[in-house]
Amino acid sequence: MAGWLTWMAVSGCTSTSSALTASEIETAVSKADRQDAKVLMAQIGSLVEAYERETPTFPYEDRGSDLPHRRVESTAWVFAEFTKLGLSPWIEETVVGELPVTNVVAELPGASDELVLVTSHHDVWYAPADDNTSGVVAMLAVAQALSGESLDRTVRFVSFDQEETNFGGSVHHYRNLEPSRVHAVINMDSIAYADSTPGSQSAPVGFYVPDVADFLAVIGNKPADDMLRWAVQLGPALPEPLRVVTVHGVGDNAWPLLGDLHRSDQSQAWLADIPASFLTDTTEFRNERYHTENDTVDSLDPAFFDKTTRLVTALTWVTQAKR
Ligand SMILES: [Zn+2]
Repeated sequence: MAGWLTWMAVSGCTSTSSALTASEIETAVSKADRQDAKVLMAQIGSLVEAYERETPTFPYEDRGSDLPHRRVESTAWVFAEFTKLGLSPWIEETVVGELPVTNVVAELPGASDELVLVTSHHDVWYAPADDNTSGVVAMLAVAQALSGESLDRTVRFVSFDQEETNFGGSVHHYRNLEPSRVHAVINMDSIAYADSTPGSQSAPVGFYVPDVADFLAVIGNKPADDMLRWAVQLGPALPEPLRVVTVHGVGDNAWPLLGDLHRSDQSQAWLADIPASFLTDTTEFRNERYHTENDTVDSLDPAFFDKTTRLVTALTWVTQAKR
């Protein structure tokens, strides 16, 4: 995840047409009832150990960068976890910009083959706990929570490769996907770090954000407006309320001023005008450990991560439903 933020609004208003009813909210939130915060953190620890087993490469050594990159052990780990959940994952293998790409994909079939994509990335710098181990573990938690549910639309899970380098994984996947088949995308990138100290949250000059780093940012392109409004309705309804701050984008966010929003794999969906929401804890605007060896398991906030993961499950449920 590189650069960020144009403007933020602490959103509360929901247009009546798309607002969720109280019973829709209750049903959506209940889909994560079986989620266990301890199991989530154990999964984080297990994936971090997988990263630590791998000898890193240095893809940008020729540019003077000694950032260690890892992606191989995590590919096998994600594939094995989907298999354990009873899904039938498959691998997308290719090369983009001279870098090898190995995406891991799995699906929960729905009544229609229209897709809702729930995505994260498994390539990383160092062996991190937040960026993006938290996104991968949350994606698996959604797969577990919705397994066995009858779905209106097909929910496709994609763990992208090469997000940290050239977006090779998402470039390849969206290039080979008919946009009209995609109803919406929910992309997670770093969703487990929080700090309730006043002044713990920052932002670029000229932008207002709450100064306490205890919220989840949900950023969308214009077609994703409904999803963002649903996230605002669902956050406070969780067993432990979660503050959601939304950024409603402009069109496909391809305006120079908004360029920094394109910091993760939802960028390819935005450029294809696919409704896509980007869920993030804002990384370096609250977390100085971002992209360092100090992005460790003990730096995470398990209660915050439990809430953000429940939100993703609830948001996926309402997004796949034909209302
Ligand atoms: Zn990331």
